[in-house]
Amino acid sequence: MSGFLIDLDHVLDYYLHTGINLRVVNFFHWCNNRKFEYLTLIFHSFELLFILWIVIYMFGLGSFWVALAIGFSQHMILDLFGNGKFLKTHSIYFLTLRAAKGFRIKDFLH
Ligand SMILES: [Zn+2]
Repeated sequence: MSGFLIDLDHVLDYYLHTGINLRVVNFFHWCNNRKFEYLTLIFHSFELLFILWIVIYMFGLGSFWVALAIGFSQHMILDLFGNGKFLKTHSIYFLTLRAAKGFRIKDFLH
């Protein structure tokens, strides 16, 4: 489930660009045709993933959290390889680096 839910950050970015609406077709058009200049992609973050695994380890969290982290990890790995042809750099998956660029996406995508 977490491997799917992580992509909700695309919806958040869509709403930041267009305002809240329920036009699903426009959302996919916006994504597929890369109509965005800025992307926050809050959950697509190796920093958050690393922190999650550390917290799980430090606090001995149970199988729910481990499953969540596995889904999150799987999604990030699949994105790294699956989106490779669109990326100038794989550093796009570091939230701090995106923030350092003001979330402007042109430095990360072809
Ligand atoms: Zn993704």
